[in-house]
Amino acid sequence: MALDQEIKAQLTPYLEYIESNVVLRVCANSGGASEGVLEFVREIAEMSDKISYENVEMERSPSFAVDKVGAEPSGVVFAGLPYGHEFTSFVMALVQVSGRKPKIEDGLIAQIKNISRTLNFTTYVSLTCHNCPEVVQALNIMAVLNPNISHTMVEGGSFKEEVEAKQIMSVPFVHLNGEEFGGGRMTAEQILAKLGESVDTSEINSRAPYDVLVVGGGPAGAAAAIYAARKGIRTGMLTDSLGGQVLETMGIENIIGTKYTEGPKFAASLMDHVKEYPVDIISSQRANKLVRNEMLELTMDSGAMLRSKTVIIATGARWRAIGVKGEKEFKNRGIAYCPHCDGPLFAGKDIAVIGGGNSGVEAAIDLAGIAGHVTVIEFMPELRADTILQKRLRSLENVTIVTNAQTKEIAGSSKVESLTYADRTTEKEVTLQVQGVFILIGLTPNTEWLADTVKRTKVGEIIVDKHGASSLPGVFAAGDCSDSAYKQIVISMGSGATASLGAFDYLIRN
Ligand SMILES: Cc1cc2nc3c(=O)[nH]c(=O)nc-3n(C[C@H](O)[C@H](O)[C@H](O)COP(=O)(O)OP(=O)(O)OC[C@H]3O[C@@H](n4cnc5c(N)ncnc54)[C@H](O)[C@@H]3O)c2cc1C
Repeated sequence: MALDQEIKAQLTPYLEYIESNVVLRVCANSGGASEGVLEFVREIAEMSDKISYENVEMERSPSFAVDKVGAEPSGVVFAGLPYGHEFTSFVMALVQVSGRKPKIEDGLIAQIKNISRTLNFTTYVSLTCHNCPEVVQALNIMAVLNPNISHTMVEGGSFKEEVEAKQIMSVPFVHLNGEEFGGGRMTAEQILAKLGESVDTSEINSRAPYDVLVVGGGPAGAAAAIYAARKGIRTGMLTDSLGGQVLETMGIENIIGTKYTEGPKFAASLMDHVKEYPVDIISSQRANKLVRNEMLELTMDSGAMLRSKTVIIATGARWRAIGVKGEKEFKNRGIAYCPHCDGPLFAGKDIAVIGGGNSGVEAAIDLAGIAGHVTVIEFMPELRADTILQKRLRSLENVTIVTNAQTKEIAGSSKVESLTYADRTTEKEVTLQVQGVFILIGLTPNTEWLADTVKRTKVGEIIVDKHGASSLPGVFAAGDCSDSAYKQIVISMGSGATASLGAFDYLIRN
């Protein structure tokens, strides 16, 4: 049986949304994995009168296309089984191909429909990657909306030879018309921007000024927006992506009052909560300049501009780069930052994890279950992770821990082949033969775009007072981009609320 009861229960309510008949065109003639795909397609078809399947020849086996009966091919293809995080992508494709309108803005739909060039996308994914579905779903929507666009999701585990030949070492990784297009999380808006399809900025520019404009859509931004909107003042939220860093993690056990949740689920509930209020959300736009004229004016990469009486900056943080030779060259070629996403691509291989804090040690424990051997490299004389994590790490047979070591270089020909570190006591250099390097050495705040607009610490964190106010009147900051002592979800949400109340107070007094 391909579908267990839990998956069937998950799928059943969505079958109601299928608007017209859909056919799954399956090519499955290459042994073991093919049986699984055939069985999957058969069982899906058995669940609804509106779904049928037929055997065809396709470029990859096993794979299947999701097409509307009596219409041109949709261009949506799944190569390998869309299980794990990709099951939702499959369900959404089923419903959207049948004719249901995707839940994206009308302006974006029009922009996608206007594309006249032929764009054949392929996205390589792993089923444990929680960043992959965003890209798969965005490209599927583009394929459904525009006959010039097609999209194939390739599950790396089922197409190991192709993945090796194309040197895919991080997921999601997208190819366009056979050439590399890009890796990492991308929304439809970001894909369009990368394609050079310009955004209509006049619509954004015409928006009335806000009382409070929140920049950032993570926990701090969500809390700030909700607190502002609840005061009944005009609130906007401008964000690059919705959810923030929590999208990078799975198990979360320290949101007080919620024993356990998962990053993507928590991010979705944050946004559902924001959408309960009249918050004007502008997503997939990056702020790149803030100036005070008569009002505060926030400019975006796209050239669009918004005005507001107060601004709350909640742009969070991102993985810190180590800055050694080879890091830039081998990004997506063996250097990775997300163990959940890219771990499966290093099955049986020897890898290094740089960073002996909680995130590095957690990653090393996780990766030790997949990789051949893991070397943890820590700059300080001792690991910095919690004792319980260190104990677990030390119990693993295929892990070596190297402390007091400074990474010097990551090298290879076309992909990572070695890492060189120096023993900080003896200065002796050691080269490890590794095929992958995970860099987990902490975070850097997303505040470079502010330059000298507000005072920042030497590592770039925005300096705030106890009301969340920055050095520029009317500008507040919250969460991981601020100089708060600790960086955690509840702390970010608390500081988002503080900044919002601080901004409200400022508005009353000014
Ligand atoms: C792997 C991992 C696991 C974690 N696990 C936990 C945990 O278990 N428990 C816990 O409490 N904390 C955890 N954390 C920390 C927690 O996720 C952060 O403290 C929290 O997300 C910070 O929230 P934030 O809103 O300040 O920033 P972020 O979550 O970083 O959100 C920033 C937002 O700003 C947007 N943005 C950035 N730059 C711009 C720009 N120029 N213009 C427009 N928008 C922009 C981003 O797209 C994003 O929406 C974890 C972090 C990571 C990376």
